[in-house]
Amino acid sequence: MKAKTAAARGAKTARGRHIALFGGTFDPIHSGHVAVARAAERRFHLDRVFFIPSSRPPHKPAAELCAYEHRFAMVALACSAHPSFVPSLAEASVNGAGRRVFYSIDTVRRFRQKFNRPGDRIYFIVGADSFLHLQTWKDYAELLQLCDFVVANRPGFRIGALRKVIPPALLAPAGAKTARHSRVVRLRDTVVYLLETVASHVSATDVRQRVERGQSVHGLVPPRVEEYINKQALYRQALYT
Ligand code: ATP
Repeated sequence: MKAKTAAARGAKTARGRHIALFGGTFDPIHSGHVAVARAAERRFHLDRVFFIPSSRPPHKPAAELCAYEHRFAMVALACSAHPSFVPSLAEASVNGAGRRVFYSIDTVRRFRQKFNRPGDRIYFIVGADSFLHLQTWKDYAELLQLCDFVVANRPGFRIGALRKVIPPALLAPAGAKTARHSRVVRLRDTVVYLLETVASHVSATDVRQRVERGQSVHGLVPPRVEEYINKQALYRQALYT
């Protein structure tokens, strides 16, 4: 029995580590994010999902965001209920005062340096809405060739639009022939997967607006995050801080 366990462990090591990076503003992290990460974890047999709140994202003005410390705390609380979910400080600014903008390409490169054993695999999780703007990301063509992508469906998103974002020159010869409605797009060195099993309508904007209006966000965010939002009086006039 012991030998079998060791063999199983060996098999896992031989296959390398399969991890996913899930970046965002997470202002706040919500049930849609968690559902996407869980679906990706199941489909790709992930060992770890790193949630990476950005202290300074390129596409959203930092001044309009809730403090990084709060966003990170909520991510950490959401991760505490899932053994394979890891809150990552990879895009934390130094001493909370940095002006540095974080780009996904740099973050992925850093994780690749760490997860560089044979068989290690990195997936980059992104929502369909974000993926559609990929061409505005720094070095996006290089990023597409650096790791596999898991594109999570969002309501109103069409699969055909996904392919248009990928420069034809990056497609694998066989990938170019992939059916228009295929859930998998093969690039020369990487693959873009469409994760269709989740179609959550929750957005952080909706959560913030509900709190501001004094409405409940029960079920829209993990319970511990709901508690944190209430205790810290986030997204509304601070009553106790
Ligand atoms: P906001 O409403 O403030 O723009 P958001 O809900 O889109 O925020 P982000 O933190 O910006 O949340 O999202 C991080 C990543 O998660 C993005 O790639 C986004 O597309 C994706 N995402 C967010 N909500 C969902 C959802 N309900 N289903 C699938 N992907 C999602």
